[in-house]
Amino acid sequence: MAERICTVGIDLGGTNIVFGLVTPRGELLHHFSRPTEGEKGTDRVMGNILDGISQSIEAAGEYRVNGIGLGSPGVVDTEHGLVIQCAPNIPNWSGQQIRQPIIDRFRLPSFVDNDAKMAVIGEAIFGAGAGKKHVLVVTLGTGIGGGVVINGKIHRGAYYCAGEIGHAVVQIGGRRCACGVEGHLEAYASAKGLVGQVHEALQEGKTSVVTEWAGPELAGLTAKMVLDAAKQGDRVCLDVVNLSSHYLGMALAHFAMVFDPEMMIISGGISLAGKIVFNSVQEAYDRYIYYTDVRKAPIVPARLGFEAGMVGAAAMAMIELNLNEIQNLP
Ligand SMILES: [Zn+2]
Repeated sequence: MAERICTVGIDLGGTNIVFGLVTPRGELLHHFSRPTEGEKGTDRVMGNILDGISQSIEAAGEYRVNGIGLGSPGVVDTEHGLVIQCAPNIPNWSGQQIRQPIIDRFRLPSFVDNDAKMAVIGEAIFGAGAGKKHVLVVTLGTGIGGGVVINGKIHRGAYYCAGEIGHAVVQIGGRRCACGVEGHLEAYASAKGLVGQVHEALQEGKTSVVTEWAGPELAGLTAKMVLDAAKQGDRVCLDVVNLSSHYLGMALAHFAMVFDPEMMIISGGISLAGKIVFNSVQEAYDRYIYYTDVRKAPIVPARLGFEAGMVGAAAMAMIELNLNEIQNLP
């Protein structure tokens, strides 16, 4: 019987670290999470990562662990295994060496990258993009992330910054993005963007059903409320969702023209809204795309949920190991 192998995938978040054992067919054999404890210092965070890996390897049983992949928040120098720049969700994480301690303790091939990139690779290799070689993934969350998979490998770019789809300009002089620049896609099609636009419309005196749902001064307004109201035909929310989806479709057309993907995947909470988002995205994409008769890349929702980052971290390690056993059939 052939040797059974698996890879450890780790998704480091601000609150929890998720560990998983993934086979070359993308099966998740085992997974668990433990607190990050970022407030207790970077040594504690690294210690929690190492202990979790140790626990994972023990859980592998008869499977041989062939490698380890770790996704971390921030800009990650994949070559030197270093976090170059990190948002404050893990204090002092910038400058942290995250690969060497893993290699020192486990003596296994280990790979690190940005957490969003790992989720992209997970979705592209073992999620909706399984069996495809050229895939674009956009993640609609509080902000907008994304990535490009070319020939089955993530495209990192010269400065590890490729795939920042959320910061495409969609409106000259438009809403200000969290990054400070005006008119970026993220200022419209992210959860924060949707909520912000509804706030602005109501400040202009328009009325919406969400005023009854979101409490005093709309303090509890969420993107889900905006999407639910739009589905009910609420004018204000429908206009916001349509415009935002239109901008997303337009941005996808831009990226398709550069990367010529086989498939474009939309992940994140907003992608669960279904047709109300996807129809407008598709309409705008069809309107702006060049070579419409040639390009058939479908725009589809993601298939993986919370596990995308962990499965992707393992998939990244498998790709780096040039594992020819990867069986990501659709
Ligand atoms: Zn921006």
